[in-house]
Amino acid sequence: MKSWKGITSLTHSQIKDLQNQRLHSFINTHVYPFSPFYRKLFDDNKIDPGQVRTREDLKRIPFICKSDLISHDNPQKFKDFILQPDKEKISRYWPKLRLLSLALKSMVKGRRLEEDLAQEYRPVFMTFTTGTTNAPVPFMYSRYDLDNLHVSGGRMVELFDIKGDDRIMNLFPFAPHLAFWQTFFGAIEADVFSLSTGGGKVMGTEGNLTALLRIKPSAILGVPSYIYHLVRFAQEKEHDLSFIKKIVLGAARVTCAYKQKLSDMLSTQGAKNVKIFGTYGFTEARTAWAECPTENHESSGYHLYPDKEIFEIIDPVTGEVKDDQEDGEIVYSSLDSRASVMLRYRTGDFAKGGITHGPCPYCGHQTLRLSSNITRLSDNKDMNLSKVKGTLVNFSHFAEVLNDVPQINEWQLEIRKHKNDPYEVDELVVYVTPRAGANQSTLSQEIKDKLTGATEVSPNEIKFIPLEEMVKRLELETANKEKRILDIRPKV
Ligand SMILES: [Zn+2]
Repeated sequence: MKSWKGITSLTHSQIKDLQNQRLHSFINTHVYPFSPFYRKLFDDNKIDPGQVRTREDLKRIPFICKSDLISHDNPQKFKDFILQPDKEKISRYWPKLRLLSLALKSMVKGRRLEEDLAQEYRPVFMTFTTGTTNAPVPFMYSRYDLDNLHVSGGRMVELFDIKGDDRIMNLFPFAPHLAFWQTFFGAIEADVFSLSTGGGKVMGTEGNLTALLRIKPSAILGVPSYIYHLVRFAQEKEHDLSFIKKIVLGAARVTCAYKQKLSDMLSTQGAKNVKIFGTYGFTEARTAWAECPTENHESSGYHLYPDKEIFEIIDPVTGEVKDDQEDGEIVYSSLDSRASVMLRYRTGDFAKGGITHGPCPYCGHQTLRLSSNITRLSDNKDMNLSKVKGTLVNFSHFAEVLNDVPQINEWQLEIRKHKNDPYEVDELVVYVTPRAGANQSTLSQEIKDKLTGATEVSPNEIKFIPLEEMVKRLELETANKEKRILDIRPKV
């Protein structure tokens, strides 16, 4: 199924039937025969692939997580997850009838069966993870997967109601990362004009602004911090931005208050009632999901693709599968992919509110929706930070508080040691660039109160610095990801 047609009106029991049927066929036709990793996992755990018939049966397959994809002794471990068909496995696992029909199809097209199989399975494209602590892990796509990337991109663009004469500006950093390519292929699938600038690092903010004013896109897509930076840059120069109707943010979580802040800034430049959408995606799934248009920047949740994947919600401690609507860790299994295939992948993301069934109150789609209230369970580990000032700190709380204070223009958090001595106490400094007209001492008190309330850690110092210095500190124009939290504590 290409667009949303066919899946948006399915009842929940029809969705379940579709997923059960696809799961059984996917595992028996593609995963078990051709995936070295999963064949071994099934055999080691004495799982008969023929007996995996329903979503319930998925529970018998052990979870995999980030660490399963990495091996220090074997840097090629990612290859075990790639489907690797050959003649022997095909004739062993595929029914004669399927082989015969494939052979006939190839004959009609005047091609060899091998060429058809290569097109379906051979890796031709790659993105990789952007871990801060581990080496990047490559994820492969075949032509089949690229078609799926078109499908998900097209569905998202349709959800945003971007079509026809609309123009898209893709400001995601140009890199082998999902966000850039998902946007690029989505625009092509929707037959909408797009310009992919590569973001600040490739064209500079001046260059991006020039392109923006010349092309006048109705929709711009990018990382929240960079979009915000570009809009602010346009605001300083007093440019009219009334052509912007929609903004799509990816690669970072955005709250309702953050959307409001961006919307307020846009409205001073003539862009009124701009719809702002959040998206969710991860390298391992090789796809992304989106919100639909709502009033007052509320979140509809991310509209899932039940024909392409199964999401489970689990208890992050016990691993027990919970009801869809409960809070828990997000687990992803593919139902329709080739090359690097993932089953029961633990994302390390925690969704408050889980997955909602039934029609979306905003667009009416019957498809499943994943709560957008997502935090990373692994934030502490990723930041290589267990404790600050003796308190276990979740940095997503800092970001939530500071992003949502209306009088803050930009912020950065620095964790250092007193006198830069590794044996000394931790110190926390918040660098702030206030909005014009903000009262510094009132703002300072507000930041202290809110941070202490949310994190139990009170900052040692709040430093007000000019925007120009902040842009450099954050590396907003030079890095793919801004340096929002800086840990400069010397190692012992
Ligand atoms: Zn909706």
